[in-house]
Amino acid sequence: MPNEKLNDIPQWTGRFYNDGVQHEDMFDKLKEECGVFGVYGHDEAASLSYYGLHALQHRGQESAGICVSDGSEFHYHRGMGLVKEVFTNDIMQNLTGPVAIAHVRYSTAGESRVANAQPLVFKYREGDLAIATNGNILNAPEIRKELEREGSIFQTTSDTEVLAHLIARSRHEDMLQALKEGLKQLVGGFAFLILTKERIIAALDPHGLRPLVMGKLGDAVLFASETCAFDMIGAEYVRDVQPGELIIVDKNGIREERFAQQQRKALCAMEYIYFARPDSDIDQINIHLARKRMGRQLAIEGFVDADVVTGVPDSSISAAIGYAEQTGIPYELGLVKNRYVGRTFIQPSQALREQGVKMKLSAVRKVVEGKRVVMIDDSIVRGTTSLRIVNMLREAGAKEVHVRISSPPFSNPCFYGIDTPSREELIASAKTVEEIRKAINADSLHFLSKEGLQEAIGRMDEGINGGHCMACFDNDYPTKTGDFSKQMISRV
Ligand code: SF4
Repeated sequence: MPNEKLNDIPQWTGRFYNDGVQHEDMFDKLKEECGVFGVYGHDEAASLSYYGLHALQHRGQESAGICVSDGSEFHYHRGMGLVKEVFTNDIMQNLTGPVAIAHVRYSTAGESRVANAQPLVFKYREGDLAIATNGNILNAPEIRKELEREGSIFQTTSDTEVLAHLIARSRHEDMLQALKEGLKQLVGGFAFLILTKERIIAALDPHGLRPLVMGKLGDAVLFASETCAFDMIGAEYVRDVQPGELIIVDKNGIREERFAQQQRKALCAMEYIYFARPDSDIDQINIHLARKRMGRQLAIEGFVDADVVTGVPDSSISAAIGYAEQTGIPYELGLVKNRYVGRTFIQPSQALREQGVKMKLSAVRKVVEGKRVVMIDDSIVRGTTSLRIVNMLREAGAKEVHVRISSPPFSNPCFYGIDTPSREELIASAKTVEEIRKAINADSLHFLSKEGLQEAIGRMDEGINGGHCMACFDNDYPTKTGDFSKQMISRV
């Protein structure tokens, strides 16, 4: 991510949208972490994984991989790019076997290169092992240093490899005992899928920070980061994997064990606000409906009279519909996203930028011209995107632009697998709401309260924050962070 300081944010640029900020990504958004998918007991495990990864593509676009076991050996392929770019028909034909794990990656720790693409595949004394993970291991650098001192040689810069080394070096002969011992040493938010030649194992961190669900398709057992992957292949949701739980699936059936007691439940609230797909359910709560409730609650807390409500596509559309329903102000498509801007898009020159070439988002002039517009967005990170969108709406003729954010101010970095800028770069860490309003050039600004967010998600019965991590809003991290967090900040 570019290193843009708050002071560099222009106040009012004249040419509004493209001026002033050199930013490689027009959307100053948080980056999703990763997505995992697993199949046990289906002849077309690789094809199911391929479709499952398609449904999870929003969680990571840097690399994709599938590893299949035919019972005697692994067949795998990993590559940089989107799922459809990494896997061809020829490649898929070689991925034979009834058990598979698969992964899409956005790198939060470790470099972006194919050696770090997952599933990572290892050989150790008990056989072959493949690992796919979503999340972040806070103490991985510490453990890695220790292991290297003792002679381990790492093949990748990925955090995930630490678990493989812990298993390989364990005194336990039994792989499951070695795995449990390894998992116990990890601090952070993680959802693992582990493949051996004859079984698949799912494990979730003791706080349940990252989502992981189990499903079934006929007799086959499935795992995925989100339920939308099950819908894609006509599979049924069975249940969410629980914090500290280990689920083992092999020829003896399904075994549910623990590697740690559940600690304070702290499922990432940003999954509901922004990361997950609207058609997914997490803990049986539908994401679209939760976002709509956030919009309704936002209207109750921060009503402003206006002519139209619009949402920043795609993640804020549901909240905008909720805001419109609650207030009676019509919802309109005031902003349109250009869906076909890919990584190979030729960036416009500065001269074209100055002529107003907009790559990713456009305002619908006929909708906003002369209107008082309520613009709903899910979060403000550095503030640069919000400023651009507000200015774009003004350039398209909006008379007033009122910004409503369907989450509390994002003022602390995440250490659990979400790529966030350092605290200093988060606009809400240093500025008041009024100062942010000025910086983004809005007529008014309101953030959803933490209590309102909790109520909108609708799971109130599990302790602190209703069982959610909200550390990026309230600085109350569910795990110890200590020195780990300093390492993370320097790596972002
Ligand atoms: S700090 Fe924020 S983004 Fe990170 S896990 Fe917690 S709620 Fe999610």
